[in-house]
Amino acid sequence: MTINTPIATQFLEVQTKIAHASKQVLSGSDSMKKSKLIAVSKTFSQEHIAPAIAIGQRHFGENRIQEAQTKWPNIIKNTPDIQLHLIGPLQTNKVADALKLFDVIHTIDRIKLVQKIADAREKLDANTIRMKECLIQVNIGDESQKFGIPVNELSHLVAYVREAKLPLCGLMCIPPFDKDPTPYFALLKKLAREHQLLELSMGMSKDFECAIKLGATMVRVGSALFGRRDTS
Ligand SMILES: *Cc1c(COP(=O)(O)O)cnc(C)c1O
Repeated sequence: MTINTPIATQFLEVQTKIAHASKQVLSGSDSMKKSKLIAVSKTFSQEHIAPAIAIGQRHFGENRIQEAQTKWPNIIKNTPDIQLHLIGPLQTNKVADALKLFDVIHTIDRIKLVQKIADAREKLDANTIRMKECLIQVNIGDESQKFGIPVNELSHLVAYVREAKLPLCGLMCIPPFDKDPTPYFALLKKLAREHQLLELSMGMSKDFECAIKLGATMVRVGSALFGRRDTS
């Protein structure tokens, strides 16, 4: 297989933009680190994913457990250093499946889910669990139909997650679709700092450069890498 595919070209373009935006971050020593690119491969098949792996991409994001279960175990067998990120909502009845497949869960957003994850971590054979880190999803625009914990309940949830001894590393958000994301990214950064959390999962195809300038440590980019999706 040649790596000179359109997907490889898109990856190089996005990586260049990430490197450039990362250099423009002005806030002290943690700025020297480049933001991590999570390639969002939802709805795309192995044929699309293979060229990304060939050029060295290792972090991938999926939003549906079932789709990820059909796609990834085989790929991971051949490339064991792949890191899978769950970026979509997690139902409590899928918690065990999620812990076994995903290295990072970005979408912790309620007490009951934390309880289920803590229970499952106790019950499951530790060797079968991949999940090493998790983030809390914040409903940063306080939108009525969005997932994520409301901003004013975040402190309570952070305390609960820490008490349950989950490996909490940061915060994630999706700003309101039709607004300038700047104040929302800035607010997430402020909330993370207040709670002493280092990772900030924010920024998608249309706004990842803006997110990086405001401190994103992980950007979740799909269509700018793989092309337009037919669904979701
Ligand atoms: C689909 C999705 C993305 C990627 O969106 P693009 O606009 O294709 O980059 C990022 N984050 C979440 C939570 C998603 O569901």
